[in-house]
Amino acid sequence: MFKNSWTIGHVFGIPIRLHITLLIILPLFGFIFGTNIGLLTETLGLDPDALLLSPYTIGFLIGIGLFVSVALHEIGHTWVALRRGLKIRSITLMILGGIADMEEMSKDPSDELVIAIMGPIVSLVLGILFLGLRFIVVNAPADLHIFLLYLGQINIVLAVFNLLPAFPSDGGRVLRAIMAKRRSYLAATKTATSIGQTFAILFAIFGVLTGNILLVLIAFFIYIAAGQEYSTNLVNATLEGFRVRDLMTNDVVTVPAHYTVAQLLALMYDEKHTGYPVLADGAVVGCVTMEDVQKVAPGDRDYYKVEDIMSQALQMVHPDDDAVEALTRMSREQIGRLFVFDELNLVGIITRSDIMKGFQIRQIEKTRAE
Ligand SMILES: [Zn+2]
Repeated sequence: MFKNSWTIGHVFGIPIRLHITLLIILPLFGFIFGTNIGLLTETLGLDPDALLLSPYTIGFLIGIGLFVSVALHEIGHTWVALRRGLKIRSITLMILGGIADMEEMSKDPSDELVIAIMGPIVSLVLGILFLGLRFIVVNAPADLHIFLLYLGQINIVLAVFNLLPAFPSDGGRVLRAIMAKRRSYLAATKTATSIGQTFAILFAIFGVLTGNILLVLIAFFIYIAAGQEYSTNLVNATLEGFRVRDLMTNDVVTVPAHYTVAQLLALMYDEKHTGYPVLADGAVVGCVTMEDVQKVAPGDRDYYKVEDIMSQALQMVHPDDDAVEALTRMSREQIGRLFVFDELNLVGIITRSDIMKGFQIRQIEKTRAE
């Protein structure tokens, strides 16, 4: 799901990934924290000369501590989700925090409530722990005191900030879950989205007024993410009960494996599809798309055959599969189409636009019926 990230370890068998944006932001955070440390030493009445490390080194360590804290926050969500029987693909730590990639969202509001609340609880506990540790290590170097105080405060801020009902933040999810107990999931999402986007606008205004670029950036992401969640929910609710067979294209145009790329291109012009199953000896052996064609230089189109450029990995679905699940799979794997196989026979193709057409028709039907 997230490109440009590396797996650094596993927790509960789930890969923890580091996104490249984090490596860019970490030195910056170290610098920002480092510049604040002078002020903090003064406030605490500590002697700046008593520090063993340079303020920027401490700042950098706090930055690392912050991302470990964010990882623990995400592990908190994940732990509850796993206990509730949900699957988590990965946890990615990136520029603005962490994301636990759930295979499916639970339809049960009480699941969402406990999963969402656990992250801020972990942050709060960490905050109290770090602040409390200061009273245990009284005689430790000033560096450690600053580290603990700073990290403790950041975790408390994280807990509070995440609990604001700025959907799709944790607090926003809690709010939706509470509302979804009395209303439909979609209606609850709609209200939560409006509240979330209002918060995003307020954050942006506040961020601009105070010169806090990070807050403006967060506001932007919340606004977009809230809108996307609502659209996804709307599509899911509208297409509920639809099967792949209801929305697929039945008459499948196939391409013989021995066709040249030039012949394939001519077929694409005629048929206006961008992806085709490839046939050899009456059997489907692969699929070829516009992207495969683009890899061949125009001068070589007569020399390369379809079988040279096709992909052998066929993405298949069954006609009785859920249409929404098929759409989710295409978005997640960033593919445009799935081949519909009934046992061993190719019976159709379903594309993202087939499903979106079905969605639009269903919406028109609904508004008529109302
Ligand atoms: Zn969270």
